[in-house]
Amino acid sequence: MPASRARVPVMKTRSAAPRLDPRQPLVLDTHELGRRPGSMRRVHATVPAPPDLGTPVIAIPTRSDVGLELRLESVVEGVLVTGTAALHTSGECGRCLEPVTGELVVDLQELYAYPEAVTRVQQQAGGDDDDELVLVDELLGLEPVLRDAVVLALPMTPLCNENCRGLCPQCGERLDDLPADHGHEQVDPRWAALAALQTSPPAPEKES
Ligand SMILES: [Zn+2]
Ligand SMILES: [Zn+2]
Repeated sequence: MPASRARVPVMKTRSAAPRLDPRQPLVLDTHELGRRPGSMRRVHATVPAPPDLGTPVIAIPTRSDVGLELRLESVVEGVLVTGTAALHTSGECGRCLEPVTGELVVDLQELYAYPEAVTRVQQQAGGDDDDELVLVDELLGLEPVLRDAVVLALPMTPLCNENCRGLCPQCGERLDDLPADHGHEQVDPRWAALAALQTSPPAPEKES
């Protein structure tokens, strides 16, 4: 609708930052840091994984345990979060389609700016502010940072093992489950015809 579009102010507003629910497990409270640069708080927690975390081929099971080991540090511009998240992964082998489960540890590092510091941080970052994270009511939302880190760390093609030989193109069985000499005899059609003659009654020909 062009008419309403014209009324949208050009200036980006920060009021669009989603409000955070402090009861959410991936929302952390920075209140006790008291905006004193240098003050620090450690977070050691196990939280349930949010839904839809991962890629179509490998993902973090919803509500599975996510182990957080974080440092929340008050700096001049905001709160710096550093640490790790340990997660369970579940997917399927890109070659043989077997279920694949594993563990993943991702590094997290992110600055959450105080609302009034956002402009300064943007300028220092060259104005590229699309990923700017802001403290809302002294809360920080870890989920977008966790999502980015997890999606980057997950393999493009998960494998059940590095040497997985995939599926037999003829019968579709897993080659690793089949004997090493597994194969499908490619019978020369002329010999097949001869073999058919030797049996009685001959097998019905379906050759066109
Ligand atoms: Zn495999
Ligand atoms: Zn086969």
